[in-house]
Amino acid sequence: STASIGVTGLAVMGRNLARNFARNGYTVAVHNRTPARTRSLIEEFGHEGSFVPAEKPADFVAALERPRRLMIMVKAGGPTDAVIDEFVPLLDPGDIVIDGGNAHFEDTRRREAALREQGIHFVGTGVSGGEEGALHGPSIMPGGSVEAYAALGPMLEKISAHVDGEPCCTHIGSDGAGHFVKMVHNGIEYADMQLIAEAYDLLRRAAGRTPAQIADIFRRWNTGVLDSYLIEITAEILAHTDGETGKPFVDIVADAAEQKGTGRWTVQTALDVAAPVPGIAEAVFARSLSGHTELRAAARQLTGPQVPAAAGQDADRLVDQVEQALYASKIVSYAQGWNMIQAAAEQFGWDIDLGAVAKIWRGGCIIRAGFLGEIRSAYAADPALPTLLADERFSRQLGEAQDAWRAVVTTAVQGSIPTPGFSASLAYYDALRADRLPAALIQAQRDFFGAHTYQRVDREGTFHTEWSGDRSETLM
Ligand code: NDP
Repeated sequence: STASIGVTGLAVMGRNLARNFARNGYTVAVHNRTPARTRSLIEEFGHEGSFVPAEKPADFVAALERPRRLMIMVKAGGPTDAVIDEFVPLLDPGDIVIDGGNAHFEDTRRREAALREQGIHFVGTGVSGGEEGALHGPSIMPGGSVEAYAALGPMLEKISAHVDGEPCCTHIGSDGAGHFVKMVHNGIEYADMQLIAEAYDLLRRAAGRTPAQIADIFRRWNTGVLDSYLIEITAEILAHTDGETGKPFVDIVADAAEQKGTGRWTVQTALDVAAPVPGIAEAVFARSLSGHTELRAAARQLTGPQVPAAAGQDADRLVDQVEQALYASKIVSYAQGWNMIQAAAEQFGWDIDLGAVAKIWRGGCIIRAGFLGEIRSAYAADPALPTLLADERFSRQLGEAQDAWRAVVTTAVQGSIPTPGFSASLAYYDALRADRLPAALIQAQRDFFGAHTYQRVDREGTFHTEWSGDRSETLM
């Protein structure tokens, strides 16, 4: 047994992670259900490092140094369970099974508990960055035990992306914490993409800019506070012309966005852990809505405003305002994501360093951005920060951006440009900072029809009013 780690599942992700380990000097055992994949990896990339190919599970396991580190990179769900069931009987107590697939964190909790009973460590690990990240350095979010991390962490840190010499990998927390955090990463990614798409729509339809001009605007934004991978690739996409028609590429792509499901998981789970994430939810719903072509066709004849979107706009001014609205909405979406992680950490007993989460997302993953360094600083200054919006720097920036933000949402509404992300983020900002919310009226309504009771602002206790009787109040 000579291999420091084994990877089973050699589709794009597993293959590139195996190569990444090998390129970093580790001997890697490689296995795939269909052996042709293993053979092609060795044929094409065997020269890159030290690989031990195995066709039979027993040979694969035998190739691993102890404690064995066995990484599963197969299709999430049933296939992961099938592979666990196949390999675990071949392992010994103290061995470490790593699942780097996009597992639901509840599955990871279940698998971790089951393997723990057999003395085997199960490390559910979020891996972000797609196929390129897997090869050149992803952002890695391992859960599982501290003990398992001690034996595995240094290797994962080595193959992860690095920013300012720091690895984009840290032990997130026990059992499903890593996959949970990866899920929220994807939810934030949905929100970020939606906000960027809204900004593009406004620049095009309200500021009258062409895709090529918008590409230049995004390139400029990418040198400021919005500097990020997603802004960078958006500029490239907008500058691209379709080879066949000569039209802007963005105009020849069908406008029905798809989703693989992690955004939906984020929203479903947010409801379960009682974390309000409207920025992420609006992004998930916006994709869903775009795909409902039958609803859109049925509604196309509905009346819109008489005044065109661009009317009366100072376009240059609007461009600057959209930049500020985008940044403010982005702060809000990220704040919601972090609050969701905080809520789950409390519920599931995870000891998550919120600043470290920002640190490991600065490189390797899809939402990588300089901005994450600011989030890290915010939590370094106050690890118990109730919301990122309360951080001194972010609250000042929101204050500076808010007039522009309101103007942009107003322009969007008047010009019939749907901006659910911008609008929901602004509503969240205003709701959080409100002295009084109309939730008081909702409590009264609930008491009226369902005797659900209410609290008073001026006295302790739980009260109910006899709405159908003499309207006297009872202290419950
Ligand atoms: P796929 O999700 O397409 O899965 C294909 C791999 O799973 C193949 O190796 C296949 O083996 C194996 N597999 C499927 N069913 C079984 C089974 N019942 N038993 C054994 N092996 C099985 O591969 P990807 O590389 O795209 O992704 C791997 C994992 O990484 C997934 O969980 C994915 O969600 C996650 N991920 C993917 C990212 C991406 O950008 N693609 C990013 C981050 C995570 P065979 O060759 O024999 O069919």
